Amino acid sequence: MAASAFKTANATWHLIGETSPSLESSDQYEALLEAARLIRKNAYAPYSQFQVGAAVLMDGEIYSGCNVENASYGATICAERSAILSGVANGARAIDALALTTGPEPGTPLDQRSPCGVCRQVISEFAEDHTPILIDAGDGAAYAGEIVALGHLLPWRFNL
Ligand SMILES: [Zn+2]
Repeated sequence: MAASAFKTANATWHLIGETSPSLESSDQYEALLEAARLIRKNAYAPYSQFQVGAAVLMDGEIYSGCNVENASYGATICAERSAILSGVANGARAIDALALTTGPEPGTPLDQRSPCGVCRQVISEFAEDHTPILIDAGDGAAYAGEIVALGHLLPWRFNL
């Protein structure tokens, strides 16, 4: 997995895959990660204790969401979908970028911080191959996180 360094105002990221510079202001990457970290505090995860926060930039607005678990397990919803559905419910339709955090310890492998398969497909519904997905590396990590192109996370994604 080749990653190149990408710098924003106060952070360094690892860039993976072909993303478009759809966010003109680098501040938006950091704002998006901050929003994800903030809403993660509201996660309802009494069963797994795995709290996740997500923030999505859709049509110029930031919408955020957290995971909400359920006693039935199957009715649980992930943070990424929670954020996206909030945007859609407010009339937004296009994802410019999405950030998520699991509040990882620095050094946590990427596969333990990445969106699940269901969320990748839901992101895909409103995004493009080059849409950047920001994955938090954790507070105190040497870099802010990975910026991964959706097409890299979900190759040959299903589309009608
Ligand atoms: Zn998910």
